[in-house]
Amino acid sequence: MRIGFIGIGNMGWPMAANLVAAGHDVTVQDADPDLAGRFAAEVGGRAAAGLGEVAANEVVVCMLPTGAIVREVLTAAEGGAFAAGLKPGCIIIDMSSSEPVGTKELGPVLAERGAVLLDAPVSGGVARAKTGELAIMIGGDDAAAIEAAQPVLQAMGARLFRTGGLGSGHAMKALNNMVAAASYVATAEAMLIGRRFGLDPGTMVEIMNVSTGRNFHTDVVMKDHVVGEKFATGFAVGLLAKDVKIAADLGRAMKMAAPMANLTEERWATARDRLGATADNSLAITVLEADLQS
Ligand code: NAD
Repeated sequence: MRIGFIGIGNMGWPMAANLVAAGHDVTVQDADPDLAGRFAAEVGGRAAAGLGEVAANEVVVCMLPTGAIVREVLTAAEGGAFAAGLKPGCIIIDMSSSEPVGTKELGPVLAERGAVLLDAPVSGGVARAKTGELAIMIGGDDAAAIEAAQPVLQAMGARLFRTGGLGSGHAMKALNNMVAAASYVATAEAMLIGRRFGLDPGTMVEIMNVSTGRNFHTDVVMKDHVVGEKFATGFAVGLLAKDVKIAADLGRAMKMAAPMANLTEERWATARDRLGATADNSLAITVLEADLQS
């Protein structure tokens, strides 16, 4: 298929590379002026001259930091070049972790141009983006478009789930990340308390990984990036704080008190503010450690 791909950062690059490897005709674009050219030279496909060129494809994938940026790129950037360049029937798949309410609002705006918007955020991190084994949560109101998008999604993911109408994938993704982010905070507190008592954090993680405390963070982040001191998961603390805020906002919109969501939101906002949004999320334990000293 002819595919436009906007946002070839930590996740987008390997995802777009898997589309090229699957034989699709891929045109890439990124706000970083060097990235698209480098991608075309190193991986294949072509670098778009502008957003109008990206729009003129059968399918367009977005892998951008936030839903607000997705909306800006698709409707306003370059004088609205993307929307102007759309061909009727184009399927736009927002694979970023965007705000579900914003996604529901964006669908009708793009429909006016004859395009169909789907949300298909992912989980699995950079490692599974590279192997094409992401979990993908697909929301959308157009069953035929979801069916037509399958070859594209299957080139990037191993487990594909239909979550419901437009925006439901984005809601699911934020709620998953809230659970993961809360697990990080709980794991970090346990490791810090244990260390002060005299336990070895490396041994603690090893034990938790064969015990009931096991979670994604004990398995990967604490083991390799905190105890292993790599601090390079490829997932920025600002993006995780954004995801937790989306989940907490959703709780508030549903008129639910959700104290865990609110506390997790506060913990990650503090980590982002102290570390800077682009720092690796695995470094949050250093902020938590400072706070536990009181
Ligand atoms: P990233 O910052 O590495 O990549 C984002 C890319 O978008 C960058 O290359 C940036 O230059 C580009 N960009 C920003 N604004 C743009 C614009 N206006 N026009 C064109 N390009 C623009 O982020 P990432 O880690 O690849 O994450 C992308 C999305 O995927 C986010 O929504 C994130 O929450 C989500 N996500 C990330 C991970 C992870 O492990 N990194 C995992 C799952 C989901």
